[in-house]
Amino acid sequence: MGKTRKFETEAIRTQIERTQFLEHSAPMYLTSSFVFDDAEDMRASFAEEKDRNIYSRYSNPNSSEFIEKVCKMEGAESGFAFASGMAAVYSTFMALLESGDHIVSSKSIFGSTHSLFTNFFPKWNISTSYFDVNDLASVESLITPKTKILYAESPTNPGVDVLDLELLGKIAKKHGLIFIIDNCFASPYLQQPIKFGADLVIHSGTKLMDGQGRVLAGITVGKDDLVDKVYRFSRITGPALSPFNAWVLSKSLETLSIRVDRHCSNALALATFLESHAEIAWVKYPFLKSHPQYEIAKKQMKAGGCVVAFEVKGGLEAGRRFFDRIKLLSLSANLGDSRSIVTHPASTTHSKLSSDERLAVGITDGMVRVSVGLEHIDDIVADVDQALGG
Ligand SMILES: *Cc1c(COP(=O)(O)O)cnc(C)c1O
Repeated sequence: MGKTRKFETEAIRTQIERTQFLEHSAPMYLTSSFVFDDAEDMRASFAEEKDRNIYSRYSNPNSSEFIEKVCKMEGAESGFAFASGMAAVYSTFMALLESGDHIVSSKSIFGSTHSLFTNFFPKWNISTSYFDVNDLASVESLITPKTKILYAESPTNPGVDVLDLELLGKIAKKHGLIFIIDNCFASPYLQQPIKFGADLVIHSGTKLMDGQGRVLAGITVGKDDLVDKVYRFSRITGPALSPFNAWVLSKSLETLSIRVDRHCSNALALATFLESHAEIAWVKYPFLKSHPQYEIAKKQMKAGGCVVAFEVKGGLEAGRRFFDRIKLLSLSANLGDSRSIVTHPASTTHSKLSSDERLAVGITDGMVRVSVGLEHIDDIVADVDQALGG
């Protein structure tokens, strides 16, 4: 059947070879190294004349299963799995860039990625120019002869803006840039950036892929030649995913589609409820018709994702009061968990920015980000409503 199998089927039936015990569910390969038959086998394996496991910093059957699943889900040729999403981001960029290279990136990217670009990459003479998510027309003006990578996330964190991936893909192609998308907020179930021209797709597996807030993980998938560079850098530097976490994630991916379907229907229901709430200044969710990029979201996503952003009337104080009143939803920094989570970007993740800097990336003082979980929607809505004083 191969390529004709559907997403849900591949998520469940992509599995490493069975052992002599004929287990139904893939076992965990908690081993740091693998053995050789003889001197010639060992030589040929190290010379890469054989495609086999040598050492778990390079590859491991559990990681291979996880990678193969994500490659099928994203329509990618190959991949490498990392100990965290940030290890994936860091290693991918370091593997591909030289001193003097330049990145053009969306301004609205994950906080640690932004810090990496602005606080650390200049040490290696790698510079970054940022474009506003609402001004994709400016992207081309930032490209120089030194630009090597075009980078973005969609939907963005925490403002859930949506970027036109097809348009960005065309710009990258026209200028010969490597187009990389962090697809963590959508998950491969909702959006496959390779269809729109992405060369590499990065995920934090910590979010919707695990979906139950248990393990940290990251993965980069995409074109063979680029992934090979990422692999060669990573097998030397050692950011590999642990086999235990790979096993957990591969199991989690079996249920990704049904979990994400429910995340999305719950999120849309909460967003719709908030839209008519008297204490709310605005609410943003990609699949609400009022979202500024609703048409683009519909074009490139299967559903709107698990994150809803909204502004409580009354600014910072009202935002803080909302958090003090929340009972069921967790106050936590994660997202894509089965448990619903609320965060207040202005006083937590983005508190080190000035008010103006926050506004530039779409974060207002009363803004709340909800990662809508899998609890019953009535209980989620009731908790948010009572915290708003309803
Ligand atoms: C969480 C996250 C990351 C980083 O992933 P970790 O697993 O926490 O290292 C990167 N990008 C996005 C969009 C994220 O949400």
